[in-house]
Parts: sequence; C-alpha cells; structure tokens
Amino acid sequence: MSYENDQGGSLMNLLSFKRGGIHPADNKISSKSYIKTIKTPNTVNISLSQHIGSPAKLIVKLGDIVKRGQLIAEASSYISANIHSSINGKISKIENNNVVIEKTIDDTSYLELNTENKTIKEIVKDAGIIGKGGAGFPTHVKLSPKEQEKINTILINAAECEPYLTADHRLMLEKAKELVYGIKLILKEFKNVPKAIIAIENNKPDAIALLKSIIKNDNEIQIAVLKTRYPQGGEKQLIQAVLDLEVPTGELPFNIGVIVLNVATIISIYEAYFNKKPLIDTLVTISGDLIKEPSNYLIPIGTSIDYIINELNIEKDIITKIIIGGPLMGFTISDLNTGINKTCSGILFFKNKISIKERTCINCGMCVDVCSLGLLPTKYAKYSKYDKMDEALEASIMDCTECGCCSYICPAKIEIVSWIKLLKNKIRNLKKGR
Ligand code: SF4
Ligand code: SF4
Repeated sequence: MSYENDQGGSLMNLLSFKRGGIHPADNKISSKSYIKTIKTPNTVNISLSQHIGSPAKLIVKLGDIVKRGQLIAEASSYISANIHSSINGKISKIENNNVVIEKTIDDTSYLELNTENKTIKEIVKDAGIIGKGGAGFPTHVKLSPKEQEKINTILINAAECEPYLTADHRLMLEKAKELVYGIKLILKEFKNVPKAIIAIENNKPDAIALLKSIIKNDNEIQIAVLKTRYPQGGEKQLIQAVLDLEVPTGELPFNIGVIVLNVATIISIYEAYFNKKPLIDTLVTISGDLIKEPSNYLIPIGTSIDYIINELNIEKDIITKIIIGGPLMGFTISDLNTGINKTCSGILFFKNKISIKERTCINCGMCVDVCSLGLLPTKYAKYSKYDKMDEALEASIMDCTECGCCSYICPAKIEIVSWIKLLKNKIRNLKKGR
C-alpha cells in the first residue's frame, strides 16, 4: 500500500480508525515555539518505577556521589528498565522506591553509555528507554518479540492526537533528520521489514512537508497522513487506520506483526546510539490557560512540578488544576513535589474552574457511539458504582484503553473513565490477591 498521495488530498483520502472518536478543540498553542531548556534543578526526585513491570533495583546507596548519566538502578526482571541520575549530585534520601539527589555540580554534560560492540537492542536497554506518553513499556522488550521474523511493519506513531501536546510535533520539525536516522537503526534490526511508516495527523502540515522532503528518494520510509481525530494515536486505532488490521482482544501489536514506536522514543534511540546518551531528560509541553508562553521544555527526569512552577514564573496561587499528560488521558496531581517521569509528555496548568457536577444518566447512548473499540462505557460506570466485577469482565472492561472519549461526550458529566479506572484497579488488585 502506498501513502504517497495522501498529503494535501481531500479529507476523503485521509486515514482514520473506523468507528467512534471525537474531535475536541486541539489547543496546540505551543506548536510554533522552539524547544527550550530550563536551569538544572537543585534536587531531583527519581522514581524507580517509571515503567510498566518491576521497579528497577537500586545499585547506589545513601551518601554516594553520582554523575549525570550514571546508572543508579538496574532493570530487575525481563519487563523492567534501567534508571540513571539526571543531575550531578549526592544521594540524600531513598524512600518508597524514590531516590532524592541533591545537586553538587551544575553541568549539563553526561556520563556516556558504553556502546562498544553492542547491538541496538542492548544499547536501548542500557539507556533505559521506555515508551513515552503511555504506561512506559520498556522499548528493548518491544524490540525483542518472540518471533522476530514475523514482524512485517514498523509503525511510527506521530499522531500526537491529545489536545495541547506538541512535543512530538516540535521534535519532527527540529530533529527530523535524527528521526529518520533513528528509524533506519530500527529497520536494521528487523531485516524482514521492508518499510517503516510514519503516521501523522493532518494538523501538522509543516512536519509532513519537512519529513517528505527528507525521505523523498528513500524507499524504506513512507508517510501516512491521518485525519485529525482523537484517539488516532492509540495503538489499536493507529494500526486499524494505517494497516486496516485488528489487534485481537488481549493481544499486543507484535502478535499481528507490527511494532509501534512513537517519535520521542525514536529520538531517544538515536541519542543513545549516536550520542551515547541515556534517557535522563524528557521533552515536555508546558501549556494550559494559565501559561503565558506555552512551549516545550527539555527537563531532567525527577524535576519537581514546584521547581517548574517557580522557574517559569507560573502564578501558583491561581492554579486550580495540574494535569500530567494530555487533558483526556492524563491525570491530575496535587503534590507539587512530584518528580516528572520518563513518560511525561506534558504538564498542563489551568486557572479556570471547570464544573463537574455529575447528573443522572439519561441513556442517550452517546458514550457508546464515540467508543472507538465498540465497548459499553455506560454499563462500566454502573458496574463500577456497584462493584460488579464479573459483569464488567464479561463485558470486556479490561479492553478499555481509558482514552476518555466517553467522559468527554457525556451530557450528564459522568466521569465514566474515572469509574472505569477504579473498577479495573480493583480487578487487578483482586487478581494479585491484595
Ligand atoms: S475510555 Fe474506554 S470505554 Fe470510554 S471511549 Fe475510551 S475505550 Fe471506550
Ligand atoms: S453519555 Fe452519559 S448520559 Fe449518555 S448514556 Fe452515556 S453515561 Fe448515560
């Protein structure tokens, strides 16, 4: 299948998932602003559990002096990831899977990875690279499917469909060549894969044009232009839109021969391979109605929200809500000492109070209509309220990707996705025997 004529074509030509979805105001107000850095914080608070799977195993102790880029915790099992110090400093506290490091020397250089005689997968593992924006699946595991020869497509998720978030968009504009080189590194690992496909929503025409100009004579990389529609960047939705394939319930993309990697992950792979840099900084969109100059900042992992507020002169007293991630899939926080994780793609600050007074369900069915996976959100909310786990499991609640479309559309302002998350957590904890 060729995607070459999709850009600039009529809306009819644009690719999309088949059912449901929403089109919220995209508020991509930081998309024109160049990537910035912030002054190194005096303290970082680094979690050993930033990824899905087991927490990393600490290999430093209280009082140790560490360098920026130094390994402080190792992957502790197959699904786990390395963690490095993001500043030069002294280990001052270790508590509840968190390590606090106090800065000793202000220096943005870093201890380089030893990449000699190592494969790309080994380098990715050493660098502690995990998927950004989602649950934080370790990338070296994603690149090591059981039957590697069955992988036939590398799909680059460049949709960035959540409102406000523009970090991937800026990376595509400011690090386009690095993105292309990074994709080629992955293609080298998968010799049976003839091409990689970069899937981009059509609200980023500058990135589409730039990438097309770079890859014009390259037969290994194609661009697929997607209709701007949320949740176009969900893995299942992306695979359906671009490849017209379904990921069966309970399975992962590699089971159907596809590996999905997002733009920031590819850039991290490039940085690890060519610049020997471990994943110690993350690019974050700072936006929301409280931010005077919304932009994207490269921030050391573990930097606290409080430090960011002070450093960017954000009016703390009038903040009513802080969201980590996008407004639909992100989560609100109240503890300003929280250190940002590798998965953090955005921090949104709001000042306007949003009324969330929940009313009674009017059985309009709109939540069901917008669910791109054909699930039954209205039922899940009710099951959650009455702890009906068996019924919820029977109705495939665990397939829900928590995209938030159902909550967004509900005229009764029912926090459907919060109810879903609550019940899913109860089910998981029950399975773990807690
Ligand atoms: S949050 Fe879950 S149930 Fe609601 S629309 Fe998204 S996938 Fe469907
Ligand atoms: S959208 Fe809200 S009001 Fe309508 S059926 Fe779903 S839960 Fe009920």
